Amino acid sequence: MSIIKDFLLQLTFMLIPIFIYYTFITERVKNNKNRKVTMTILWGISIIACMSFPVLFGQNARLELRIIPLLLGTLYGGFLPGIFLSALIIFYRLSLGIDIGFYNTVLVLLLSLPVIVHFQKSFASSKKDRRVKIAVGLSFYYCLIGLTLLGILRGFSKEYLTVPIIHLFFAVLVTWCFTMLIEAIREIHQLRLEMQNSEKLRAIGELTSVFAHEIRNPMQATRGFLQLLNEPDLSDKKKEYIQISLEELDRANEIINDFLSLGKPSIEDKKRINIGYQIQRVVNIIHSYTLNRNVEIETDILENCWIYVNPQRLNQSLINILKNAIESMPNGGTVWIKCTTDDRYIKISIKDQGIGMTKKQIERLGSPYYSLKESGTGLGMMVSFQIIRSFKGKIQVNSEKDVGTEFIILLPQIS
Ligand code: ADP
Ligand code: MG
Repeated sequence: MSIIKDFLLQLTFMLIPIFIYYTFITERVKNNKNRKVTMTILWGISIIACMSFPVLFGQNARLELRIIPLLLGTLYGGFLPGIFLSALIIFYRLSLGIDIGFYNTVLVLLLSLPVIVHFQKSFASSKKDRRVKIAVGLSFYYCLIGLTLLGILRGFSKEYLTVPIIHLFFAVLVTWCFTMLIEAIREIHQLRLEMQNSEKLRAIGELTSVFAHEIRNPMQATRGFLQLLNEPDLSDKKKEYIQISLEELDRANEIINDFLSLGKPSIEDKKRINIGYQIQRVVNIIHSYTLNRNVEIETDILENCWIYVNPQRLNQSLINILKNAIESMPNGGTVWIKCTTDDRYIKISIKDQGIGMTKKQIERLGSPYYSLKESGTGLGMMVSFQIIRSFKGKIQVNSEKDVGTEFIILLPQIS
């Protein structure tokens, strides 16, 4: 009975840091570095507690799960927390006396920490399922090394190896449980953040749709009168002023359009449309924009491919992507629009020779207000992603800094 009690105690030592971290720390501590430090301290306390109250089998055999705080701390925290937690284990073990167990501890850490740190990078960029596999694999590796070394140091006898084998089994199982638990909690957090975000956007959408119409009317009137003022006998300077005013009014109108589409519900007026015809229309609309920027558009478009979408919304997302492609080439260049198909998807590729993006920039693409342009709104991509998603499509982005960017839009095909 006391073994079970001890074992449950070990589990509690690991549950408490997870509970404290995700209930109190993630929400309140905004600085990423401070959060990491707090998490490392919590895992450190957990390690000391695990080592102080091990599960005792008979006289000399101890079983404890310090690998789990060490592993989770390193995988979720990184290199430095890993070093700190390992040092903590070594010093605490040292205070318990120098014996075979101590050498074993040091050797196991020396052999396993580099491997854990090596996998940490791919762990950080992986999805849930792969993360769980990595954690379980590393836990297995750590225990196996411990077991082998103990065998070498003490001899491979049943007497000495029974407990390490049980340890291996439990450590792997508990690693699996706790990684799943942490991943589930992180997922819930992520979902909550996204919900807060979409709620914010919905509120913005509602507000702007009220104002937008009121602002647009006077803008239309101003635009009309400005065009009337633009007579041939005006001086060049005045003509230029009028031109700038018109462009700025158009820009204001675009920003209003972007804001308006944020609040639109996803159920919309879809139609069966010919994608080639639609792309051609978009190219015609954007034509004037390309002229004064020295940009050429080359198209290679399929005939007779049909998709089921809302044409205005599709136009809007294509125009946003095309405009970005054009704006990414300040000295001019070519934009290629290609449309191909396989049996399920229609693939629209929009490729430029512009400034390109780094991996980090691609990751941030589509988050609200993310813009690197002086007068950018950072809404265009977000709206486009939202629109394509609402058509059950996908957007892929390939980009290389200073070479160019390719946006690939995949839309489900209908016959
Ligand atoms: P905005 O155009 O108002 O800046 P967007 O949401 O349309 O906002 O784009 C966000 C950012 O993504 C841009 O500021 C730009 O840095 C980057 N971006 C988008 N498309 C491209 C592209 N084709 N080439 C290079 N950078 C791009
Ligand atoms: Mg844009």
